[in-house]
Amino acid sequence: MATIRLLPDQLISQIAAGEVVERPASALKELLENSLDAGSTDIQVSLLQGGIKQMRVTDNGAGVAKEDLMLALTRHATSKIASLEDLESVASLGFRGEALASIASISRTQLLSRQVGSKHAWRIGSEGSDISAVEPAALDAGTVIEVSDLYFNTPARRKFLKTEATEFGHCEEMFTRIALSRPDVSLMLQHNGRALSRFAVGQPERRFSEVLGSEFVAESIAVDESAAGLRLWGMAAKPTFNRNSRDTQYVYVNGRFVRDKVIAHAIRQAYQDVLHHDRHPAFVLFLELDPSLVDVNVHPAKTEVRFRDSQAIHRFIFHSLHKALAIPTGVSNAVTAN
Ligand code: ADP
Ligand code: MG
Repeated sequence: MATIRLLPDQLISQIAAGEVVERPASALKELLENSLDAGSTDIQVSLLQGGIKQMRVTDNGAGVAKEDLMLALTRHATSKIASLEDLESVASLGFRGEALASIASISRTQLLSRQVGSKHAWRIGSEGSDISAVEPAALDAGTVIEVSDLYFNTPARRKFLKTEATEFGHCEEMFTRIALSRPDVSLMLQHNGRALSRFAVGQPERRFSEVLGSEFVAESIAVDESAAGLRLWGMAAKPTFNRNSRDTQYVYVNGRFVRDKVIAHAIRQAYQDVLHHDRHPAFVLFLELDPSLVDVNVHPAKTEVRFRDSQAIHRFIFHSLHKALAIPTGVSNAVTAN
């Protein structure tokens, strides 16, 4: 007797949501990345109860066309890639076309958007698998996405949620990662009606200082090294400004926050001679390279990457940092925040 059946779309999305939307902060990451991919220069985040009750992201980006609203919530539908070649050179943060579908399948989602030149805005709503018809709505420009009651229809998942404070902490960390990487975008974070962070557009040093504290910037060395198509830039704290945890360690590859063993090891090694083994360096570092030399499609959350030549990356990061850390004089002048 045949027993294999095709799963309904809704269930497929809910299964995928297990990977994409591990917790509220993962949903927030996807929403923020969508806003950035849409070219937004101003993004506002408003959370209720750690993001579990609601998260609303308002942006001033390109918006979604009326005809695309339904597709935006559909699995494997994306405006960002069309072919395998596109995937190999992808410059946008998203490309899998599954985040919104996953989020919508386990929440009550409202998507409101207006493209430039459109007479007014349009809205679409969904509650689990029920998607409403597209209706006219009021909005000046950009997109507002509101995700409420996360996991309302997946009780097993809901049980894994931690306290509101813990989930908010994860959301705030996600917001911090984005804020550090995009000083060219103004960002605001609000929780339970209270404004917590507001970052204006400015130079990277100023953003680092606002997000991580002026002491970090004052105690750090500006890094900017290039070789053979690779560039490493950012700030690395002097060995004297060390931490007892890894809480101030931010690494980005082509603008995307990553956790990578090769990079972490190279950084650790660069600090090895100057830092006691139980202390941790602080840094915000951006590695830039040809997108075809790094695979970001390793996991749906995309915090893992694979380098075509990881030894070359290791050597480059080690040498760049080692060189930067070996220049003790004139440093504080070079990195004065502006
Ligand atoms: P992906 O980002 O991988 O394409 P998503 O499910 O996150 O997939 O989003 C689906 C599509 O919805 C995107 O490709 C984009 O066209 C559109 N979209 C989502 N959020 C926004 C936004 N804030 N502004 C403009 N377009 C958006
Ligand atoms: Mg996306």
